[in-house]
Amino acid sequence: MSPYPTFHIMTKPIGAICNLDCTYCYYLEKEKLYPQTRQFKMTDETLDSYIRQYIESQASSEVSFAWQGGEPTLMGLEYFQKVVQLQRKYANGKKIGNALQTNGTLLTDEWGRFFSDNQFLIGLSIDGVKGGRKVRRLGR
Ligand code: SF4
Repeated sequence: MSPYPTFHIMTKPIGAICNLDCTYCYYLEKEKLYPQTRQFKMTDETLDSYIRQYIESQASSEVSFAWQGGEPTLMGLEYFQKVVQLQRKYANGKKIGNALQTNGTLLTDEWGRFFSDNQFLIGLSIDGVKGGRKVRRLGR
């Protein structure tokens, strides 16, 4: 049993990198906090440690991962296939959930099948026409 209370972390495996450049984005400028680097991708070694430690440290029997960016799908589908494999490896009987926030522009049917097969909760942000409302839709 973990000595820590349950807590929640948002994971940003691509840092502040996005394939869009929304004028209102509050997050892209965070790239400037790391002027010495152009490499923001979370490495496989860090991913392995992160997933193991995050699961181990949670007191509850359910563990929720939240993937955000930047645009997290820039990490590629294989990366998230690895995520799910590592979660299974380290679950130790706990129920694992995943939520992912995306601008949706890089999604394909293959991504859709993966999300469906692994029951990811997807947050999809879409900008409407100028002067219109921003549409924000959540769904499985
Ligand atoms: S899609 Fe999201 S993360 Fe990307 S620039 Fe726009 S607001 Fe920022």
